Formats: sequence, structure tokens, C-alpha cells
Amino acid sequence: MLATLRTEIYLDSNATTSVLPAAIAAAVDAMAQCFGNPSSSHGAGLRAKAVLDGARASATRLLGVGSGRLMFNSGATEGIQTAVLSALCALRERRSRGEATGDLLVYGATEHKAVPQSLEHWNRLLGLNLTLHALPVDGEGRHDLAALRALAPRAALVCTMAANNETGVISDLAGIEAVLTETATTAYWLVDCVQALGKLPLELARTRIDYALFSGHKLYAPKGIGMLYVRDGAPFTPLIMGGGQEAGLRSGTENMAGIAALGAVLAALERGGTFRSHAELAGFRARLADSLRIALPGIVFNHAFAASLPTTLNFSVPGVASRALMDVFDAAGVRVSSGSACSAKAAAPSYVLAAMGVPDWRASGAIRMSFGPLTDEATIAAACARIARCGAALRSGGLLPLDGAPAAHDGAGVSRHALSCEAAAPAAHHGAEASQQPGATLPAPDASAPPADDAMRLAPAALTAFLQAHPDARLIDVRELYECAATVTPAPGGRPAISVPLGQLPGWLAQWRGKVQVPLVFYCRSGNRSLKAAQYLRGLGHQQAWSLDGGLALASPAMDA
Ligand code: PLP
Repeated sequence: MLATLRTEIYLDSNATTSVLPAAIAAAVDAMAQCFGNPSSSHGAGLRAKAVLDGARASATRLLGVGSGRLMFNSGATEGIQTAVLSALCALRERRSRGEATGDLLVYGATEHKAVPQSLEHWNRLLGLNLTLHALPVDGEGRHDLAALRALAPRAALVCTMAANNETGVISDLAGIEAVLTETATTAYWLVDCVQALGKLPLELARTRIDYALFSGHKLYAPKGIGMLYVRDGAPFTPLIMGGGQEAGLRSGTENMAGIAALGAVLAALERGGTFRSHAELAGFRARLADSLRIALPGIVFNHAFAASLPTTLNFSVPGVASRALMDVFDAAGVRVSSGSACSAKAAAPSYVLAAMGVPDWRASGAIRMSFGPLTDEATIAAACARIARCGAALRSGGLLPLDGAPAAHDGAGVSRHALSCEAAAPAAHHGAEASQQPGATLPAPDASAPPADDAMRLAPAALTAFLQAHPDARLIDVRELYECAATVTPAPGGRPAISVPLGQLPGWLAQWRGKVQVPLVFYCRSGNRSLKAAQYLRGLGHQQAWSLDGGLALASPAMDA
């Protein structure tokens, strides 16, 4: 068996997880062997139906569904639509009968955006004209129960998540329920349980919750499968009508591969022994937090660990932008997220942290590190070593103070890539100010028409042949020096690379006195900065400039074994 270098450490489980091997096997079986339509009455259909029934039975026991209804759907976003549509249709009917209903659609200020956006959408579409009202949270990210008490008499629907996706903060569902009961509100109650599945005990039918929704891909099932719980007696309007599948609650031939896979995950949860306990996970989080504190002096955690899922860490580092942190972690093969995955491309401050009253620099510079209950000891140990490596790289790049810095150490070994990076231009100065602006732009060359992008994109699969055909070609890494220092994968193409951060390209070119004779292949993390570099060179008249399309993300090996 080949020994594989552990290149990727996946710490973004709140965005999505890998798929449990037993779930993959169940999905394959549902496609290869048990491929019947569960609505068919012949043997093949009956076998598929048994898989469907088995998965529902597991979910029913595990979530304490009782006499409530539990349907499979495509995921949490669909569950939110269905629940909101159901509640709003019921409110419209109640109104048309002259019954008093509240006029507020109350949602937690830190809800996933799918909630307020669905409320806004269906409220407008159904012409209800209810008012959306964000329920504030306190400094720990928990719903303000006094505010809820004041709003409850006017609430038509209350939406609160069980645990937050950015911070892992666990809501006080019992406290919310007590307020709803005390105030005798007629409001319906929707709970987004996406991040709670498998991490918090849920006995749904024992609560007042009307709608609870789940998503398979946050807990080792594939994307595109989810569940919606509807309390016995809670109003329901199907979002999708048709063949009457799922007892008419959600039509359309079932996603049997997804259901079989989710069923395998639910069975593993029920059986026990597959996923780690809360205490073990809290121990993992403590080790990651200790490593982060050492590597990133001044780090601030944006949530109280005691009130959060043990699998989430959300932090900010004074003086270091989230873009720089993301880039250095990515270079080290540690996959994390800035704020929530959906806003990872935008530099906007996290609305979740802003709602908690976190200062702006922390809300805009936050990084989320999240793992799942399947994470093993070796992954945590490797992650801690990589965190130390990132701290050292940031210090070497001038983004963190050198004082009191621990020695760089990485169990994965010294980066072959880093060693293969030749020094940048002698005049290169990589001060903190320049470092804070990764992806620095280049001055516009004097050339007239900008060259077409496609002509200069080099597909990763074509790199080896290109380098063979052009033995004199030079590979140029245009990432920041701290990214280069943190990198654990070899340079693409198996040839030493020169490190020239994008912003330093003009100065470096000056050394060539405008006479670049050899083909230049630029690369970076994703292909954006290298494309700018190639455009710049071509704009200057050097037609032998290329950008490695998709960057290291597509050129480097992905997951380790
Ligand atoms: N709610 C929360 C708390 C989430 O984290 C997510 C996923 O990002 C969703 C809802 C949407 O889930 P899905 O991808 O299944 O539509």
C-alpha cells in the first residue's frame, strides 16, 4: 500500500462533511442493487420501500418524533420553505375566518439567512403583509428571552435555531419554550436543527416545536437529502404536489440514494460507537484552542465554549485580516472558513458576530474552524502541528510579532514546496502593511487592449506536457510569502518555483530590464492572482505568460487516504 502524505485537514464541517463510509455503501447499494421505486408494488419496489421505512423508523426513534410527521426532502432550505409556507398559509386562513393572529414574523438575529429570506419571500408572495422582526441575542449569542417575552403576544411565527452554524452557540430552547408557554402566544414555532443533529439530544414530540428541519450533509450524509418534522396538529401545506409520495406531504420520487445514506448515518447514531462523545469532542476543541493561542498571539474566541457545540471554534486575531488567515490556513492544507460558508467570498463583517455585539474588527476578521463527531485523534494532532506552522509563517511574513514566538514545527515534515521556492527579488520587502493586502493589484500596463483571458489559462492537466515542451519555462508563485512558507504540498509541475508576490511583480520584472525571454507560468491559490499576473505580462507585450487555471486548489492532490 502506498504511503500518502496527509495534505488536507478538513476543519469546515459546519459547511459540510465528508460522507460516512457506511453511508456511501448504503447509497451505492440503493443505486446498484436496491434501485426499485418505493412506490412500486413488485419485489424491487418493496425492497426499496423497506430501505425508506427503515430510515424513517430510525429518524423517528432518534428524534423522538412521536405522533408527529417526518418527511424526507432535499435539505434544510427546503424544510424552511415548507415550514414557513405551512405556517403562513395557516395564518392566512385564520385571518380570513376573522381570528386574531399576531402581526410579527420573529426570527433570531443569528439565524441562517435562509430563514429571514424565506419569511420575506413567502410573506410577500402570499400577500400577508406581516412584519419581519429580528429577535436580538445577547453577548454570548443566546436569544434575548426578555425581548421574546415582550414580542410573543404579537408573534405569528417564531423561528429560532438550535445551534448556530458560525459560532456553534447552543440556543436555550427550553427557555424559549417557557416564554412561549407563559405568554400563551398562538405563534407557530420553527426550529432549525441543522447543526444540532447528532450533537444535541432532541425529543421533538415532548416539546412545543411545530416544525424542525434537518440537513443530511452536515452530518456525514450526502448533499441533497434532509428531513422535516411537523408536530402532530401543526398546520401543513405541501411545497411540492404531484404523485403523493411521502404520504402526500412531499411529492416526487424519493431520493433513495440520499435516504439510504442518511438512514445509515441515523442507524450509526442510534447504535452508538461510531461518533465521538461530547467530552471527547470538547477535548479535541481544547487542544485546537491551545494550539491557536500559542500560534496566534492575542487571539480572541468569539463565543463562550461552555455555551457552544464542542465542534466549533470561531476566532479573530488582532491585526490579521481574515483573508490572510484563510490564505495561510489554505496554504497549510487546513480547510477553514471565514464567517459562514455562504459569505466566504465577501469581506463583509459576519452578521452573526455583529448581532452579538462583537467589535467590528473581530466580526470582519473572524475564522471558523469546525469538525465533526467522526474526527479522529490523528487529524487533531496534525491540525495542531499545522496551526503552529501557520503561526510561524505569519511571523516570518511580518503579520505577527516575533516576540515570544514558539519554534515552527510540523509533524507533516518540512515543506518541499517551501524549499523549492527561490528567494524573491532582493529588493523585496514584505512588511505588515503589504501583507495585509493579499491579492494586491498591479498597475495597469501601458498596452492598449487587454488580452483575452482564455488564451493565457493553462489547464492543470496540461502543465506537465507544457513544461516538457518548454524546458526553459519558469514557474512563478505569486502568493504572499507567508502563504509560500506555510505550504505543505510540492510546487506544481515538479519543478522549483520562484516566489514573487503579485504586488512585487513590477519590481521583479524591472530586474529583467523589460526583456523577459522565457515562458512564465504563474500560479497562486485559486488562479485569480496568477491570471492577473499573466494579464499584466501580456499587457506589457510578453506573450509567453500563462496562468495555471484553478491554481494549487486543482493542481495539488486533494484528500489524503
Ligand atoms: N440552517 C443552518 C443552520 C445551516 O448551517 C445550513 C447550511 O448551511 C442551512 C440551514 C441550509 O442547509 P441546506 O444546505 O441543507 O439547505
